[in-house]
Amino acid sequence: MNRRVARLAVALISGWILFSSCNNSGSTMKLKDPATEQAETGVSRKTITAESPAVAKEKTIDNLLAACNGETTASAKYAAYSKKAEQQGFHQIAILFSAVSAAEKIHYGNHKAVLEQSGIKTVPFNPEFTVKSTMENLQDAIKGETYVATAMYPEFLKIADEAGNQMAILSLNYAFKTEKKHRVMFENALAALENNTVKSLSAMYYVCATCGNTYDAAPPQRCGICMTGSEKFIKIN
Ligand SMILES: [Zn+2]
Repeated sequence: MNRRVARLAVALISGWILFSSCNNSGSTMKLKDPATEQAETGVSRKTITAESPAVAKEKTIDNLLAACNGETTASAKYAAYSKKAEQQGFHQIAILFSAVSAAEKIHYGNHKAVLEQSGIKTVPFNPEFTVKSTMENLQDAIKGETYVATAMYPEFLKIADEAGNQMAILSLNYAFKTEKKHRVMFENALAALENNTVKSLSAMYYVCATCGNTYDAAPPQRCGICMTGSEKFIKIN
């Protein structure tokens, strides 16, 4: 409860700072184009954006909470999709779903750890999703990974950067870089399913225990995203 009050106070104070700074300058100052502004003031637009660091800090906490829920749902959903793929006789796709499920769980753990550093606890919840055919499940997975890799994580990273929250940037980047790979893996699996070549897909994956990076073949000595040694990778087969 106290934390909620504190966060509300921070939001109010930052709102007041924004409001009062607008009041002081609003009537006489017009926005110039960023290049002119920088030449005249030596200050880039980025540092005088309407988004104050205090607001960006608050938003980053909310974004990490949203990302935790997203990763929890994705992990549970892909585990269920894996079972379905196995039932339908698509063993290689079942393994892919299991590997990505494990990776999303690692992303959840990282985001949660960053929140805990700020004294915020995540609230457990039961994810809701629908299991359909493996083809539809792959289409759903591609849609989800595309959203997080092209919209959600880039936006969250931008705000975490404005907040200067280095731990959040690290955790969000691990997820962002991995989700881009997951999208391609799901696209390849869907193409294989459509072309009846599922058996040519990999049936063994390696997931980096630090960042969730996912390899569909023997991994290099160190993770390509976070440099963790491959002896710490989780083998999924
Ligand atoms: Zn890694």
